Amino acid sequence: MPDPTWQASLDFLRDLHGISAAQVNAITLAQARDRWQHAVIARTSMHDLLFTLPGDGYPFTSSVRVQSANGRYVLLRWENDRLVEEKTAEVETIDALLDTFLERLTSPTLTCRHCGRPVVVSAEQFEVFERMHYNCFHHLFEHDPFDPDEECIAGGCPSASIGPAIRREEPRDSIVEELIDDLAVSKLGAQSAAVRIERRGPGMLAVTFGASTYLISVRAEPRQR
Ligand SMILES: [Zn+2]
Ligand SMILES: [Zn+2]
Repeated sequence: MPDPTWQASLDFLRDLHGISAAQVNAITLAQARDRWQHAVIARTSMHDLLFTLPGDGYPFTSSVRVQSANGRYVLLRWENDRLVEEKTAEVETIDALLDTFLERLTSPTLTCRHCGRPVVVSAEQFEVFERMHYNCFHHLFEHDPFDPDEECIAGGCPSASIGPAIRREEPRDSIVEELIDDLAVSKLGAQSAAVRIERRGPGMLAVTFGASTYLISVRAEPRQR
């Protein structure tokens, strides 16, 4: 059976005159149509909208489902046969939330270019760590010449819990302290709704202002002549 077109799904819902859930879903579907009709397949039953990826056949491995009842919506997202997300929305928020869910349905999982496994915990900093796990990035670029199971001095070392180093207070610690204070009251910090400043280790800060994360590393380097 060929995939249904958005128009066919809309017609199906609009024909269900007496069923209010169907009419509510028709409105949601019509709103999303311009943006998504070429990227996802819109399937529908009487009470639910179901969005799947082109080429994915029944039983669908990844999908977004919208259930509506009494002016409220429940959005569910499956990825590789696992329910990964569930949120509720109101009439005012359904279109934006559906957009977000379809965005995630259509963007492939982030894959670490070093080890080939999915990046989940540090997904927000995927670009910062050059499309790798922080762990992979660190051991590739920052950890040498220390033993992989020994805490190094580059900062934010993932091996700290296995072989913690005994570290003396360094001059740069005070620079980092001052930086943290300055960053918190900086212009960008004041303008951003969400601010997060994390110490990733002795010389490393991850600073999130709104949607962007900045990585700041303080190291002592010999003076250039
Ligand atoms: Zn990796
Ligand atoms: Zn390290």
